[in-house]
Amino acid sequence: MLINLSDAFNTSGKSMEINIHPELTSYDGGLGEFKMTSCEDFVLKVTNLEKGKVNISGNVKLSFEGQCDRCLKSTPVNLDISIDKNLASPDYEAGDEEEDLYDYMDGYNLDSEELLQGEITVNWPVKILCREDCKGLCPVCGHDLNEGDCGCDTFVPDPRMAAIFDKLESTKEV
Ligand SMILES: [Zn+2]
Ligand SMILES: [Zn+2]
Repeated sequence: MLINLSDAFNTSGKSMEINIHPELTSYDGGLGEFKMTSCEDFVLKVTNLEKGKVNISGNVKLSFEGQCDRCLKSTPVNLDISIDKNLASPDYEAGDEEEDLYDYMDGYNLDSEELLQGEITVNWPVKILCREDCKGLCPVCGHDLNEGDCGCDTFVPDPRMAAIFDKLESTKEV
């Protein structure tokens, strides 16, 4: 959805609320596609700060179909996104330090889908886990270790411990 912000940029004290109905159905952050399972409509508030500057704010909750990175169990990714940004109009004369480029702005139009897409990327979890202490799968047989031990020998000796064992072995030989 394109929202024309020229009025908000140019009218001091102007404030408007826009109902956004996201059209996104999935998210692809480069690691595969995640299907969106729920997304509420939300209100984006646009407030004029000074001539050529606005603040946009809003809250949106989204859910995606994900998979635990450790045990591969289907795990929802729930995002609670807070938007709070100051935008300058394309013709706003600012200092060099404010050469911010907004990829969701096209002239005076804000593309709400692009904005949302960017916010999802920023808020996407580094790891998707079914629970904080998920034990994952046994590297030998693939058994879900959250459901109990499988009895496989997955012991990887610590190299420092291995050195001590070697020493014990050699003293035994003497
Ligand atoms: Zn898991
Ligand atoms: Zn196993």
